[in-house]
Amino acid sequence: MKTPIDLFDTAIVGGGMVGMTLALMLQPSCRRIALIDATPITALAPNRFIALNGSSCDLLKRIGLEDVLATHGTGMKKIHVSCKDHFGSVHLSADEMGYDALGCVIPEKYIVHRLSALLSDAQSITLYRPERLTALQDVGDAVILSTESQVLRAKRVIGADGTRSTVRDLLGITTKTTHYHQSALVAELSLTRSHHSVAYERFQAIGAIAMLPLKEKQVAMIWTGSTDAINRLTALDSTDFLKELQMCFGYRLGRFQHSGHRLTYPLLMQHASQQIKGRVLLVGNAAHTLHPIAAQGLNLALREIAQLSDYWLAHSGRDEALDHFSFQTKQADFSSKLSHGLTALFSKPSRIFSGIRSVGLVSFDLCTFAKAYLTRSAMGYMQDTVK
Ligand SMILES: Cc1cc2nc3c(=O)[nH]c(=O)nc-3n(C[C@H](O)[C@H](O)[C@H](O)COP(=O)(O)OP(=O)(O)OC[C@H]3O[C@@H](n4cnc5c(N)ncnc54)[C@H](O)[C@@H]3O)c2cc1C
Repeated sequence: MKTPIDLFDTAIVGGGMVGMTLALMLQPSCRRIALIDATPITALAPNRFIALNGSSCDLLKRIGLEDVLATHGTGMKKIHVSCKDHFGSVHLSADEMGYDALGCVIPEKYIVHRLSALLSDAQSITLYRPERLTALQDVGDAVILSTESQVLRAKRVIGADGTRSTVRDLLGITTKTTHYHQSALVAELSLTRSHHSVAYERFQAIGAIAMLPLKEKQVAMIWTGSTDAINRLTALDSTDFLKELQMCFGYRLGRFQHSGHRLTYPLLMQHASQQIKGRVLLVGNAAHTLHPIAAQGLNLALREIAQLSDYWLAHSGRDEALDHFSFQTKQADFSSKLSHGLTALFSKPSRIFSGIRSVGLVSFDLCTFAKAYLTRSAMGYMQDTVK
């Protein structure tokens, strides 16, 4: 066996958006951080868009992405939720709540590139990329981590290695998984007119269509539905695809002019049965993978890593402090129930559910208190207290 190289305060396995952000956030409380990721950074940024809530934008600004969000992000001034063939809709408005925007939409590549540049400049972070974690052993006062060519030692380990987490598997942590048999189809579309910074979510029999505002008369589309339906839509040529999209979504955004490359993602919900085991914690998709219908996955992860880094800073990064740490679950419950609840409610074809949907949309839109609560929670401003 190779001799372990010297001791890190923290080793993070997984350098996706969650692992990279966490490494940067931990700098004030950790002198030596190792970040291990199996994928070269150039292969990481897919052609995808991410809707960040207000709390996530605040966090990313804190670690040096303010100009990236200002240059490449588009603020969402309103969110409009409706259901095809049902009366009623819900409107959430930043203005009514006294905010500039409810969040922002940004191509993922800009976040990934800036996080990676900040990591390369960080004195306290050592990058092991590309390196795949293959073994993990708790030896009492530290954890030994083995990759294909390195052996490291760390006082604690954070598994941010995604839905198929190796860290989680090596620790024997089980998961509860819901297979929706659904996929997401993602594409950038151009419009003939402005979107006026409004985001739309439209539910219908063959799935939900979200339209997120981008720069210059562009929107990011996420169409989720049964895998068979999404495969059929993917196989259509561009003209037929736009025709079908226009028919299903209607003309709230005017005419769709052009569709960029279409990408698909399989969808599931998965929760780890434990998020902390000994000296190891799980965050991001390794801990919770959510259906993207409510754009909560990354937002929830950023919320949790903010809790973790604040806690560590308050306890001066002391090793034993982890024994008393627990993630606050209010936002995690909200995000998970919202994502799963919307998927379940809007995929039920029965007439009873159809009635509930119409009545629900109308009465919810009239209820100022409920709307204010939902808006604040969706923006990530739900109150969680950290010990
Ligand atoms: C279509 C779609 C749209 C979405 N839209 C939104 C949205 O608008 N808003 C939102 O908040 N969320 C959204 N999400 C969810 C969001 O994308 C995820 O929550 C987020 O990307 C999870 O990041 P992560 O870093 O935890 O995991 P990943 O991005 O999966 O990163 C895991 C990393 O771990 C590395 N790794 C894996 N195994 C190993 C190993 N053995 N050794 C070393 N490294 C390893 C991988 O190389 C990878 O870099 C969306 C998801 C989908 C599918």
